[in-house]
Amino acid sequence: MTKDKTTDQKENRMETLGLSEEGLSRRNFLKGMAVGAAGIAVTSAIPGYTVFADVEAPLANGVSRAEFIGKVSNYFAWPHPTQYNDIWKAPLKQFKDVKTADRYGKQIETAYEESVTSGIGNGYFDPNAQLARQDAAVMMVKAFHLPLTTKTGFFKDEASISSYARASVNTLAALGYLTINSDQLFQPKRALTVDEMEVLFSKITGTMVAPVQALPKANSVAPRRYVKLYCPTPGAAIHYTTDGSEPTADSEVYTVETKGHIMEMIGTRGGGPDEPVPTDRVVTYKAVAFKDGMAASPVQTFVWNLHRPLMDDFQVLQMEKKTSVSPAIFRICNDSESVRPLAWYIEGPTSGIVFDALQTPADKKNLKTFVDGFATKPYILIIGHEHGDHDAQAMNFMNAGVDVYLSERGWASTSSTSGPFKPIFSTPESQAKVKNVDEGMKFDLGGGIVFEVVALPGHANGNVAIHDKKNGLLFASDFYGCTRAGSADNVGVAGMPPDLLLSFVQQSYSKYTKEGGKSDKLFTGHDESPLSDNNLKLYEAALQQVVDKGEGGCRPSLRGGTDAPGARTTMIGDMWKDGTNWCAIKLTGVMGDNAEFLSSTTDLKVRPYMADAANVGLNYNFGGHVKYSVLSNIEFAGGELVGKTVEYAAPGAPFTWAGKEIAVKNALQNRFNPWAYDYTVKVPKANTSITVIPTSMSTKAASITVDGKAVAYRSSNKIAVKDGQVITVKVVAPDKITTSTYTFKVAMV
Ligand SMILES: [Zn+2]
Repeated sequence: MTKDKTTDQKENRMETLGLSEEGLSRRNFLKGMAVGAAGIAVTSAIPGYTVFADVEAPLANGVSRAEFIGKVSNYFAWPHPTQYNDIWKAPLKQFKDVKTADRYGKQIETAYEESVTSGIGNGYFDPNAQLARQDAAVMMVKAFHLPLTTKTGFFKDEASISSYARASVNTLAALGYLTINSDQLFQPKRALTVDEMEVLFSKITGTMVAPVQALPKANSVAPRRYVKLYCPTPGAAIHYTTDGSEPTADSEVYTVETKGHIMEMIGTRGGGPDEPVPTDRVVTYKAVAFKDGMAASPVQTFVWNLHRPLMDDFQVLQMEKKTSVSPAIFRICNDSESVRPLAWYIEGPTSGIVFDALQTPADKKNLKTFVDGFATKPYILIIGHEHGDHDAQAMNFMNAGVDVYLSERGWASTSSTSGPFKPIFSTPESQAKVKNVDEGMKFDLGGGIVFEVVALPGHANGNVAIHDKKNGLLFASDFYGCTRAGSADNVGVAGMPPDLLLSFVQQSYSKYTKEGGKSDKLFTGHDESPLSDNNLKLYEAALQQVVDKGEGGCRPSLRGGTDAPGARTTMIGDMWKDGTNWCAIKLTGVMGDNAEFLSSTTDLKVRPYMADAANVGLNYNFGGHVKYSVLSNIEFAGGELVGKTVEYAAPGAPFTWAGKEIAVKNALQNRFNPWAYDYTVKVPKANTSITVIPTSMSTKAASITVDGKAVAYRSSNKIAVKDGQVITVKVVAPDKITTSTYTFKVAMV
């Protein structure tokens, strides 16, 4: 059977024979293999189709085809399509005899996608067979994109090399990558040994710079691509062009740190049907890499075909069926929207909620009419946050008499033009009809299905989530970011320092999970499928590493094109390897600047939550993260903390709303404030003890004590209580000097 012969060659023959790929049965195929075991070329059951044996004879130290491809794929670090969340990726290419879950299965499939192998023909790869030396040559030439030589005469047995492999073998020989023994025999059909594989690899990878790789793969049509280039050769410098010209050492240098993932799209991020742009665009990158003392890499050309319709219809997909105890969930989107946000329709036995209102201008399409096509109950609209890709259709709902909710903290930016987006509520009449939505409000959809509102400022002041704790459903718009490769690459939270945000995130999570509550299905504004509870944990971990390490927990933004180069970001995981299990959050400023991105008392107008006199002179920036002696969260079982109003940022500027000038405080009610130290805990009279769970802001705090007794981070501590008793919690910072003391006065109620 032919092996790693180019697919074209094979297909041409199949075409000549009038056969489809499937026309050659595995049975005939195996027959050919058996006959070919002697190592001589044989003719298969189908005339004109020559097959070869795998190898002359298996060797004890021979390398399997799977093992070899595994080594190639791992070297190039090709991500498998199951390892990233790219809704525009090409369908998975699979062999009939390889499963993704097999050992080397992912590597074999990515090598297939990269056209490094086309298998042994008829859709098979034959992973466990040993690899013939000539086939190793073919795969290496393809993987390293080596131009084929026309030189011949390196080996005395050249005539016995299969025609499809001859030029590849000669190419490796001409470049000095093959060991030529004194007998000058190549032995093309002998199994490659482990030692030979290692020598071949180290010769190539130690002599030439490997070809530049690009993500996402340039094999599908998409409306938008965020291009990442990388070179498997450590320390090689990547140079690239985007105008089709040949890249040289003078061309622009690419690093992820300086360029991020380069944004390539149709029109602009905020763009829509009014943009005078073509619906199609071809993006071409050419890249080469250099390293001192090594041969330059071959030039790689990547072509991405972009397509975005400028006006399309809304689409809906039912994600969950309605049951007696859980709501129906519908996902709504529109392919013409530049960042393809998602809106959700949730329907219980008696009523529904439309959550978010997309990006298509209200005068171009009507989402209300569209929702009426599948909604069977009366519903309201809740806008998860006031950004133009989530609220554009609001007026169509309001004009039809639907109640429209938006947190008042987000009102200001919807009354006038904000960023690239048009004002949504531009008249006093429409503004008067907008209903405020805030923490603690409940929406009952019938059948015991209740969604409670959680305020999550940070990405936007007006961001709210709705949570059904029984069913574990959490709709959070953009607050927790999204994991779709190349949609956002991070969620910006410049409106909130990461330490205070960490505290709020922990407090919200405590609320989601209190008394058996769940939050295991997270619906975001840009992920097609729900994320899991793990994403909430990753979000917290991303903030935690900034608190624990300061600037050392940050890295430059991946979001090229719209973020400043080096924009300060905290990230966990890899979008190209970890599927939906990664997270990136953009903070204030750029790496290494003088921005106070962590809390400080430098300007109490900006950080009003630090007004307590005990905080004078505190600054966690510029190495000050070792001074975190505060708690980020404290939970009580058997009692309830009486929270404070936490003003997390300066009040917004006054603005005109419904004909009146108003100002909205950026404050949340009934929260724990890490920088306020005296609290009351209400305990029902029937309880004789409560459990206290303290969480220090820094996981590296030197000590935490409850009433003088040392306790562990996030440990549960049972304490006998009586009315008027004061529980004292003391935290010593990682610097072992800075100390904070909190008091919690017990009020039996
Ligand atoms: Zn968004």
